[in-house]
Amino acid sequence: MRIESKLPNIGTNIFSVMTGLANQFGAINLSQGFPNYNPSDRLQRLVTDHMAMGDNQYAPMPGLIGLREKIAAKIANLYGVDVDPDTEITVTAGGTQAIFCTIAAFVHPGDEVILLEPCYDSYRPSVETVGGIPVVHALSAPDYQVDWDAVSRLIGPKTRMICINTPQNPTGTILRAADMKKIESMLRGTDVLLMSDEVYEHLIYDGAAHASALCFPELYARTLAIYSFGKTYHNTGWKTGYCVAPPALTREFRKVHQFNVFSANHPMQAAFADFMAEPAEYLGLPDFYQQKRDFFLDAMANTRFKPLHCAGTYFQLFEYGHLSDESDLDFCTRLVTDFGVAAIPVSSFFSNRKDEKVIRLCFAKTEDVLEQAAKALSKV
Ligand code: GLN
Repeated sequence: MRIESKLPNIGTNIFSVMTGLANQFGAINLSQGFPNYNPSDRLQRLVTDHMAMGDNQYAPMPGLIGLREKIAAKIANLYGVDVDPDTEITVTAGGTQAIFCTIAAFVHPGDEVILLEPCYDSYRPSVETVGGIPVVHALSAPDYQVDWDAVSRLIGPKTRMICINTPQNPTGTILRAADMKKIESMLRGTDVLLMSDEVYEHLIYDGAAHASALCFPELYARTLAIYSFGKTYHNTGWKTGYCVAPPALTREFRKVHQFNVFSANHPMQAAFADFMAEPAEYLGLPDFYQQKRDFFLDAMANTRFKPLHCAGTYFQLFEYGHLSDESDLDFCTRLVTDFGVAAIPVSSFFSNRKDEKVIRLCFAKTEDVLEQAAKALSKV
């Protein structure tokens, strides 16, 4: 039997590979992005309470209305925007599923989707799975600035969507209001949609404000914005997120979502609905993570790695080209086997595997672990 792969060039994703290697060698795992601490006790109790109360069967397809109302209240509070919980918010099985549904709902075979690389590794295969064609604007270390004029030259009659991510994984850069304005005017008069991946909305530092696509009404009319409870409440394994989009786009999104997962995890949704009444947890996140970033940078100052600027996300990039000629993948493999620390090679976020000798380390870890990792890396 001949199997014709839809993704012939895709193997196991880099996060599974590096986490697997870290486990195999007992290394400190700063590769895959996830916290090594638990969500709040109260939130965990709320989940088990809701299980005991019987919230164990399917949630409604678009998500519990009680949770969607809390999400709408949060958006009004943070961004000063009114979205209708009934027609503009869909609860998903995490950010990655929301990204897949966004792409699958709108991208037809032969449509072009503009990606700004390096980008999260699911965008491209999601586009390819549905027969779309990724068109890449490649950014470069050390500052990964977007040249919007160059991006606008990529837009043509076949362009269906552009994908942005702010704060950006893996670069730690952020888009500002001026960038969003440029995107707004660049897309004016076209049928191009915007997938705005904002899963790190609260992980933004040095007093910067998150420039959400929701805040720009003309842009929002063509936007599907993606969010993640996992990043906000330290529970990436609960796989819960949501998509915010105007009613006409949400209708199409839900057509795919309902046959992709039908609905997201019920007891978690009920617990989040209760827990979100108290905004202190997410309002404290910028400080919480900025402290970790600064602690990690201080500890890493005793190593020979060169940090790049991290304005957001829980990822810190380091250059190592002055230490080794090895490819970033070989170098990261050796970091695990010889030094006991797992990192992600940034080339894995480029479709052409552009290797600028930069590695990504996740600082969503307790200080003892960050300190141990920096100590191990000081031997490199
Ligand atoms: N978003 C996380 C990262 O970039 C992990 C996602 C995953 O493992 N699929 O590390």
